[in-house]
Amino acid sequence: METVLHTDVLVLGGGSAGMAAAIAASRKGLKVTLVERNAFLGGKATAAEVGTICGLYHFSKKEESEYVVNGFAREFADALQQRSATRPLHNAEGLHYLPYHIDAFKQLCVEWLHAHQVHIHFNAVLKTVETRDDKIMTASVIADGKPFTIFLKSLIDCSGDSVISGAAHLPVIKTDHYQAAAQVFTMQGVAEDNEARLGLIMMKALRAAIDDDVLPDFYDRVYVVQGSLRNNQVSLKVGLPLPVTYAPGNLQELKTVAESFVQNLAQFLVNRVAAFKQASIQHIAPEVGTRTGLRSVGRYVLTEEDVLQCRKFDDAVANGSWPIEEWVQHRRVSMSYFNEHDYYQVPAACLQSASIQNLFFAGRNISATEKAIASARVMGICLQTGYAAGCLAAAFANNQPQNEEVKQVQNGQL
Ligand SMILES: Cc1cc2nc3c(=O)[nH]c(=O)nc-3n(C[C@H](O)[C@H](O)[C@H](O)COP(=O)(O)OP(=O)(O)OC[C@H]3O[C@@H](n4cnc5c(N)ncnc54)[C@H](O)[C@@H]3O)c2cc1C
Repeated sequence: METVLHTDVLVLGGGSAGMAAAIAASRKGLKVTLVERNAFLGGKATAAEVGTICGLYHFSKKEESEYVVNGFAREFADALQQRSATRPLHNAEGLHYLPYHIDAFKQLCVEWLHAHQVHIHFNAVLKTVETRDDKIMTASVIADGKPFTIFLKSLIDCSGDSVISGAAHLPVIKTDHYQAAAQVFTMQGVAEDNEARLGLIMMKALRAAIDDDVLPDFYDRVYVVQGSLRNNQVSLKVGLPLPVTYAPGNLQELKTVAESFVQNLAQFLVNRVAAFKQASIQHIAPEVGTRTGLRSVGRYVLTEEDVLQCRKFDDAVANGSWPIEEWVQHRRVSMSYFNEHDYYQVPAACLQSASIQNLFFAGRNISATEKAIASARVMGICLQTGYAAGCLAAAFANNQPQNEEVKQVQNGQL
């Protein structure tokens, strides 16, 4: 007989947003269940080994990194910084970010979720949901090959790809061109201790080889993961020259392209760049990093203008201090900045379904256009939308007014 479970709040996905959402709902005293496809937590932060948290600090050319957010995002970042023994870094444009260790991120997520008594199902995927009128009543999940049904009061889609909207046959925000995917990998035995110099040496060698037709031109989409050079190891991120379409087989094709790109690049670096002469691949991140996917349709859709004009909202639940960062297949990254020291806000209306009362979203599948999500997908903002969605879903489950909950989120985190 199929197992039946009951929960107050169901969270789908244990990435930055899902972890924050589950903790928020648990802090409201509710029974929380989290369903995660992988055998570990962290989502893109750990599976794609992203390596730095952006969107936590003010956009400012000041040396010192100043938080643009309070509450849970800051609490988590402080703990992660301590566990990783890192500190915030910044670039010449005024962008501040926190490097972290992948294992520290994984461990903190699991420790904090256990401390908050969140019921976690690993190796579990959501299959279907049952909707009655304007509410989702149950979710069917398969974990380790075993099906079970979860009865719920409210749920939060933190899958990154609007899996719940898909299962409920709700409209989603799509685009013809998703952001370019990337693969992160780590090399050991690197003979250079200055990260900026290593990046320059590497790019000079790649540029010369491209100009001499030794390498194809997409080899200029190679980046050092900031803050990753330590103990003669460095993580590199390569932009993949294959479009992200989400058509059947696309993720597998991206993985195949990534594998050969990484092997060829490593071989080139070892043969042609002195700092890599004794180097070898230490490991390749388990997942290709897909940046954007389908977004759910909320009561409001965040736009490019909202981001670039630093719009503030009465029902704001998150502060966004990161520019629009666009990665395309045919060139290096491009950034669209707003004014230094300013920030935009994400309203609660981007986190609640336009049609299903008890469905909320957080992280990189909030209700936003492709340009707006190119900013709002960074983890500093995912942590905030995650925590806010957890509070809103808890208020719904407790029959409490949403506007009162929005005020509490504002007091705690903005
Ligand atoms: C290459 C790359 C570089 C990046 N660089 C940075 C950076 O430097 N700094 C920064 O802040 N951000 C960066 N980002 C963006 C950031 O990492 C992500 O946008 C963010 O981590 C998304 O968090 P999330 O919780 O919304 O989603 P995700 O991290 O994608 O988590 C979604 C979770 O849901 C699970 N899931 C999905 N479908 C199902 C299902 N059907 N059933 C069960 N579970 C499911 C997944 O396994 C995953 O654990 C980068 C992203 C990429 C890809």
